[in-house]
Amino acid sequence: MLKSHGCGEIRLSHVGQKVQLAGWVHRRRDHGGVIFIDLRDASGRVQVVIRSESIPDATKSIANIRDEYVLMVIGEVHERLEGSRNDDLPTGDIEIKVEEVEVLNSSKTPPFPINQDITITESTRLHYRYLDLRRDRMTSNMRLRHKIIKHIRDFLDERDFIEIETPVLGLATPEGARDYLVPSRIHPSSFYALPQSPQQWKQLLMVSGFERYFQIVKCYRDEDLRADRQPEFTQLDLEMSFVNESDVMQLNEELIISLLEKYAFGYEWNTSFPQMTYATAMEKYGTDRPDLRYGLEINDYSDVFRNSEFKVFSSAIGNGARIRGIVVPGGATLARKSLDSFIDIARQAGAAGLVWIQINGSGSVDDISIDDIKSPAAKFLSLEEIIQLANIANAVRGDLIILAADMDLITSRALDAVRRDAASKLELINSNRLDFVWITEFPLFEWDEGESRWSATHHLFTAPIDEDKKYLDSDPSQVRSRAYDVVCNGQEIGGGSVRIHSRDDQLQILHLLGISTEDAQEKFGHMLDAFEFGAPPHGGIAWGMDRTVALIAGEQDIREVIAFPKTKSAVDLVTGAPAMVSEDQLSDVHISVKPTDEVNSSRDISEEI
Ligand code: ASP
Repeated sequence: MLKSHGCGEIRLSHVGQKVQLAGWVHRRRDHGGVIFIDLRDASGRVQVVIRSESIPDATKSIANIRDEYVLMVIGEVHERLEGSRNDDLPTGDIEIKVEEVEVLNSSKTPPFPINQDITITESTRLHYRYLDLRRDRMTSNMRLRHKIIKHIRDFLDERDFIEIETPVLGLATPEGARDYLVPSRIHPSSFYALPQSPQQWKQLLMVSGFERYFQIVKCYRDEDLRADRQPEFTQLDLEMSFVNESDVMQLNEELIISLLEKYAFGYEWNTSFPQMTYATAMEKYGTDRPDLRYGLEINDYSDVFRNSEFKVFSSAIGNGARIRGIVVPGGATLARKSLDSFIDIARQAGAAGLVWIQINGSGSVDDISIDDIKSPAAKFLSLEEIIQLANIANAVRGDLIILAADMDLITSRALDAVRRDAASKLELINSNRLDFVWITEFPLFEWDEGESRWSATHHLFTAPIDEDKKYLDSDPSQVRSRAYDVVCNGQEIGGGSVRIHSRDDQLQILHLLGISTEDAQEKFGHMLDAFEFGAPPHGGIAWGMDRTVALIAGEQDIREVIAFPKTKSAVDLVTGAPAMVSEDQLSDVHISVKPTDEVNSSRDISEEI
C-alpha cells in the first residue's frame, strides 16, 4: 500500500507516530516557505504541513502543487497548537509534519471547485460526474446509499430471505411501460426486453419453493423522465409465500423503521404506519399519494349549495357533480396574486376554475356581515349559505375556503394540486417529518380511454379482493385489488400486492384486459403453466431505492443519490450514450436504421437536463 493510514483516521492517539498518507490536495495555503495542505482521501481529510527548507530536494515540485494533485507524504503526527485546532474536522486536533513528499499525479484545474459547496450547472456536474462525486455532498450520499443497501441485505438475511439474481435479458410484455429492447444476433428479428421489474421471475421463484426472495435490482422503463424518474432505476424487490397483505406490510414497515432509526438523522416519523383505502385517500386528499404532514383535507360541501341561487354550483350538482373544497387556515390574508395562482393551478389540473371565499376578521363566523367576505362569488352567495358552509367546514374568520364544482375526477386533481400549493405558500409543511401511510384497496382495473379497454392499475398478476370477484364479469370498475402502496410525504416509495396463483383466475384477468387465450399462452404461458404445478399463495412488494435513499438523504432529486444518472432526455453525459453504432454492429444484429435527420442527430445539451 502507498499508505499506512487513511487521512481521516489520524487522531491524538497517533501523536509521535510516523505515518504514510496518500490522497488529493483538497485545499492549499502557502505561507511562504510553509505550505498547509488539507489532504483528502476516501476516509476524510487531514492537515499536512510542508516546510520546504526541511525537504530541500523537493522544493520545486512542492511549489507546483495545486488543488486536486495526488500526493504521497510521510511524516510525524503532531498535536496542533492551542488556537489552531479545527473543531469541524475529526482530525482537527493534529497535523502531519511532512518529511517526504512525492507527487503521484498532477491535476488540471477542475471545471468547478471540489472544496466548495457552490451551485454548479447540472450539465457540467453530469459531464464531469467523476469529479462531482469527489464533493462532500455526493460522497456522503453515496456512502449513505451503500449503508442503506447493506442494512436492507442484513435485515432480510436475518429473516431468512435469500437474494437471487434474475435475468436482465427477458421477454417483452404487452402491459406496463415501454420496454428497452435488445436485438438478438443469434435469432434474427428477435428481441430481448430489459426487465421493467423482476415480477414474473420472483413469482416463479415462489413456485420453486424459496418462500422468501429479495433482490436489489436494476429495472428499466422507457418512459418520459422527471425529477423522480430515471430510465434505469434500482428497486428493492421482494416476494414471500404463504402470506397475506398484512404480513408483507408489517415486515416492510419494520424494515423501513429500522432504516430510519439508523440513518434518518434530524427527522421524526410515525412509528406505525396508518392504512388508508384508496377511496378515502381520493376523497380526502384527491390523490392516492397524500402528503399527511399537513391537514387541508378535502370535504364535500354539496349539501350547502344544492338549492343555491348561485347557479354555477346548483346546476353543477344537478348534473351529477359535487362541490368539494378545502379550508386554508389563515388564508384570508393571502393576496390576490396567490388566489389567482390557485385558480391557474386548478386550471392546469383540468378544472374550469375555483371559487375562493376569504372570511375576514377574527373569531367565530356567526356574526359576520357581507362586508367581512371577499370572494368573486360574493354577490351570488347568501350570508346564510356562507355561515352554513363555514360551520360545516369548521372555518373561522381569518380563513380561506376554496371550492371546486365538477366531477370527482377533476375536483380531485385540482384540489390536490391547490392543497399542495397552499401548504407550501403558507409554510405548513414540516420538513423534518416523514409521514408514512399504506394505501390499500386500489381499484383492480382502470379504464384506458385511448385503447378503449381496461388496464391493470398495479399489474396483471395482482389478486382481486375475494368479496369483489362477483363483479369481475358484471362491472370490473367495482373490483378492488389486494394491492398496497407505501407513500411518504406525498411520494410513492413502493408498492406491491398479493398475487393470483391459479391458472384459471389469471386467465380470467387476462381475458378482461382484452388478451386472448392464444396471446396469453404466447406471452404469459410460463406463468400460467407454473401456476398448475402447486403454486403457493404469495405476495410481495418493490420499493424505489433511489427515492428511498433520496428521502433519507433529504434530497429532492433522485439524481443526487445515483452515481451516474441520466439527464431528463435519457442521455449519459459522461460517456455520451446513447450513440450511433457501426454498420457492422448493426448488421450483426440484423438491423438497418432509418437515416436520422440533422436536427435529431445534433443534441443540445442544455435541453437535456
Ligand atoms: N413489480 C412491481 C413493481 O415494480 C412491484 C410488486 O408488485 O412487487 O411495481
